[in-house]
Amino acid sequence: MTAIAEPTFRESVDLMFNRAVSVMDLSPGLEEKIRVCNATYTVRFGVRLRGRIQTFTGYRSVHSEHMEPVKGGIRYSLAVNQDEVEALAALMTYKCALVEAPFGGSKGGLCIDPRQYEEHELERITRRFAYELAKRDLIHPSQNVPAPDMGTGEREMAWIADQYHRMNTTDINANACVTGKPIHAGGIHGRVEATGRGVQYALKEFFRHPEDIAAAGMEGSLDGKRIIVQGLGNVGYHAAKFLSQEDGAKITAVVERDGALIDDNGLDVDAVRNWIASHGGVEGYADATYVADGVSVLEKDCDILIPAALEAVITLQNAARISTKLIIEAANGPITAGADEILRQKGVLVIPDLYANAGGVTVSYFEWVKNLSHIRFGRMQRRQEEARHTLLVAELERLDRYLGDSWSMTPSFKDKYLRGADELELVRSGLDDTMRIAYQSMREVWHARDDVPDLRVAAYIVAIERVALSYRDKGL
Ligand code: NAD
Repeated sequence: MTAIAEPTFRESVDLMFNRAVSVMDLSPGLEEKIRVCNATYTVRFGVRLRGRIQTFTGYRSVHSEHMEPVKGGIRYSLAVNQDEVEALAALMTYKCALVEAPFGGSKGGLCIDPRQYEEHELERITRRFAYELAKRDLIHPSQNVPAPDMGTGEREMAWIADQYHRMNTTDINANACVTGKPIHAGGIHGRVEATGRGVQYALKEFFRHPEDIAAAGMEGSLDGKRIIVQGLGNVGYHAAKFLSQEDGAKITAVVERDGALIDDNGLDVDAVRNWIASHGGVEGYADATYVADGVSVLEKDCDILIPAALEAVITLQNAARISTKLIIEAANGPITAGADEILRQKGVLVIPDLYANAGGVTVSYFEWVKNLSHIRFGRMQRRQEEARHTLLVAELERLDRYLGDSWSMTPSFKDKYLRGADELELVRSGLDDTMRIAYQSMREVWHARDDVPDLRVAAYIVAIERVALSYRDKGL
C-alpha cells in the first residue's frame, strides 16, 4: 500500500480555509485575496561569533493587511522555513479576526537552535535580526508588531524593543513595536501566562455548554478530567498548571522532546517543569513512569488531549489511534488536515488552534494599547473604585449596627470586595471575556448550520466573514 502524502503545514491551513469557504458565499476573487499570503521577506545575515562569521536565515511573512499593524510571533527553531511562517501568518489573520483583535496576520522565524548559543550570542543574533526587520518596517508600532513564540520569550522581546528604540530615538510609541516584553521594559502583567490561561478559559467556556459537552461524549466539568499535555513550555506549562491547580483536572501524562512521563494519579506540574529546567528533559524524573517513545503517549486513553508543542503531531499515521474525547489545539497546527478528517469521523471533538491559543495575541493587544496610552491599566480608577466600595461597606455596617446583629459581612468578603482591581485582574477579565465571546460566536455558527460539521469550520467562517467585511470596506 502506498503511503498517502501529508500536506505541508501551509497546505493544511489552506485545506481548512477551503473547507470553510466552500460553504460560504464569497466571490472567487475575494476568496483568493483572503487566502494568499501578501508577502514573505527572507533575510540572510552574518554575525561574528566564536571567531568566525556565522550566517543565519530569518523570515517575516505578512499574510493580510486588511488591518494594521499586522501581528504575529517570532519563532526560533531549526525547523523554521518559508512554508511554516506563511502557514502561521495565515493562522494569525484568522485568529485576530476571531477574537476581534484589530490586527492583520504576520509571523516571523529564525532558523536557529537557541539552546546551542550563550545568552550574549543570542542577544547579538536577535539584535541583528531585529535591525534587518526594523529597517524594512517589518517591526514597527503601526505596521508590524511581533511577539514571542516557540523558542523566544520576554528576554528576546526586550532586546527587539531596545534595538527598535536605538534606531528610532524620537518615536514616542517605540515601546509598542513588539509585545511580550518584561514588565520593566513596557510589558503587561499576565502576558507570560496568557496563552495557557486562554486555553484554560476556553475549556471552562466549553464546559458551560451541555450540548457541546454531550457532542464530545463527555459529562460533568473539568474536575477530575484526565488530561495529556504535549510540550511543557510556555503554553503547555501554564495551561497544565492552571487546569490542575485551579480546576481539579489531572495531568496524567506530559510528552516532551526526549520522552514522556505518566502518572494516572496526576503529575505535579511545577515539579516536572523544574526538573526539565535543570535537566534539559523529562528523563530521570523519579515520581512518574518514563516512556522513551513520547509520541506513542499521545495515543494513551484520556479525556482531553492538549498538544502544546509544535505542528503536525497528529497525522494520518496516528490519528486513528488517538484515544481521547476532546482535543484542544494549544499549539498552532498540531493536527494535519487529513488527521482532522479522521478525528471527525471518530467523533473526537476538536477546539481549533485559531481560537484555543488566541489568549496570547489577546493580551498582546492589551499590551500594545497600554504602550500607546503610556499608562498601566487600572492606574486612574483603582483607588477610586476602592473608595466607593469602602463607602458602601461603611454604610452597610452603619445599618447593621442600627438593625442589630441580624446579619453581618464575612471578613473575607469585605477584603475581596474592597480591593480595586489591579492590572493583572483587569487583563484576566479582558481575556476571559474575549475567550467566552469568541467561543460563543463559533458555536452559534456550528449549531445553526447543517453544513458546518465542526468548531474549526465554524471558527474559519466567523473569521473569514470579518476579514471579507474589512476588504469590502476598503473597496475590494
Ligand atoms: P516554548 O518554546 O515555550 O515551548 C515548547 C515546548 O515544546 C518546549 O517545552 C519543548 O521542549 C517542547 N517540544 C519541542 N519539540 C517537541 C517535540 N517534538 N515533542 C514534544 N515536545 C516538544 O513554546 P511555546 O511558546 O509554548 O509555543 C508552543 C506552541 O504554542 C507553538 O505551536 C506556538 O506557535 C504556539 N503559541 C504560542 C504562543 C505564545 O504566546 N507563546 C501563542 C500562541 C500560540
